[in-house]
Order: sequence, then structure tokens, then C-alpha cells
Amino acid sequence: MSDTEPNSAPAYHDSTDRTHSHSHNPSNTRAVRNRLARVIGHLHAVERMVSDERDCAEILVQLAAVRSALNNVCKMILREHMDHCVIDAIRENDTASIEELNKAIDLLMK
Ligand SMILES: [Zn+2]
Repeated sequence: MSDTEPNSAPAYHDSTDRTHSHSHNPSNTRAVRNRLARVIGHLHAVERMVSDERDCAEILVQLAAVRSALNNVCKMILREHMDHCVIDAIRENDTASIEELNKAIDLLMK
């Protein structure tokens, strides 16, 4: 998958094998991917800290930062989904999509 294809389907909808009838805002998709790439880089750095037997408290602080960054990615995706997919789902009386989102929110809020 290329980073430079703004019209490619967002990877974060792939797991359900469902596609939306519309596309997300390409700049948002790019922003989400950039944030995720940063989180992955951060996580690799934490992995190196563990290998190097760095101070546990330091490692925990870094993991807390990763978790907070991931929460922000969730927020970005949720907001975009609300702005586009959910509005369309309501318009098209697509209750399955709304139910799917409710399930996702339940898991997020655990
Ligand atoms: Zn969506």
C-alpha cells in the first residue's frame, strides 16, 4: 500500500471487510496514518528500552505516553467517522452501521 494514494480505502476499515459508500477525508486519513507511524516508532523505542534494561519507571512513563497518543488516534478516527459515516448512516437509515459503532465505543471505553 502506498502512502501517496489519497483515494485508497482507509486501512482501519479492513478488518470488518466492509467498505463505506463514500471515502473519508484524505487529509484526515493521512493524519491518522502519520500519528500511527509515530506511535509505532515510539513503541519500538520502548522495546529497545526494555532490551537495554532501562529503569522500569522510565519505561512506564513512555508507555503511558504511547497509550495517550493511541487514545488521540482513536479520537481522530471517531471524529472523522461521526462527521462522515455516521451522518450518512442516519440519512440512509443504516442501523447496522450505528450498532457497529456502538460496539466499538463499548470496547474503547472499557
Ligand atoms: Zn468511517
